[in-house]
Amino acid sequence: MGGPGIAALASALADLVLPRTCAGCGIAGWVLCPRCAPLLAEPRTASPRRFPWGFPPTVAAGAYAGPVRPAVIAFKERGRAELAVPLGAALALAVAAVVSAVPGPRRPVVLVPVPSSRQALRSRGRDHVRELTARAVVELRTAGVVASEARLLRRRGRARDSAGLSAAQRRANLAGTFEPAPGPPAHPRRALLVLVDDVVTTGATLTEAAAVLAPLECVGDAPVLAAVVAATPRADPERRPGTRLPVIGKRPENVPRRPLDRLSGPAQGD
Ligand SMILES: [Zn+2]
Repeated sequence: MGGPGIAALASALADLVLPRTCAGCGIAGWVLCPRCAPLLAEPRTASPRRFPWGFPPTVAAGAYAGPVRPAVIAFKERGRAELAVPLGAALALAVAAVVSAVPGPRRPVVLVPVPSSRQALRSRGRDHVRELTARAVVELRTAGVVASEARLLRRRGRARDSAGLSAAQRRANLAGTFEPAPGPPAHPRRALLVLVDDVVTTGATLTEAAAVLAPLECVGDAPVLAAVVAATPRADPERRPGTRLPVIGKRPENVPRRPLDRLSGPAQGD
């Protein structure tokens, strides 16, 4: 197990033994190099091709394409846990962006990790979404955002791994996948709930998770939002990366922009 001290020591030892290469492009000497890291600092709204009804307002830190793809896969499937730092920073950026589109006074932000399937947890031996969530909370707090994590969802039944399924199959596969986690919600009232996950493709998972969260009493009148590290890009010329974020509800003059400006972003995350 071991605490943070042990983890730091292990990381330092790994530095001695393993030559680091950029998880995006393979160049030596970086976890994520200065050319690849900025690709995860281009927040954009995620809009799946077949926008599922009930898909929550979602911001991705970058496009799930080019060097971002191998970087996410290296973290998720190849055990490169040190990527939690830059990818967690990217997630924090996406959270800050989606929250900034909500009008009204600043509210505490609660990150709700999308639970992985038991099968996925077993095969990976870790919960990579929770690792990202923990890093993102650290980044947000450093940027002055009141942020915390709450595991409000859990898996129920057993959905198959969704890899290789069509959008419709995914939705059927996911129907009834999540349920509210037992126990009282340990988060501040009037908080903004932001579902967090690594990647959004069809949007089925976030839609399903948001549908379970929305009716919970603890959510109140706030919209359920979502943030991800990367989103499958759309080949739509109208949608350029980094363009306008949607305004969720009515935006007053004084929407706080500070969190975005002050986040360190993935480039400094290493
Ligand atoms: Zn690179």
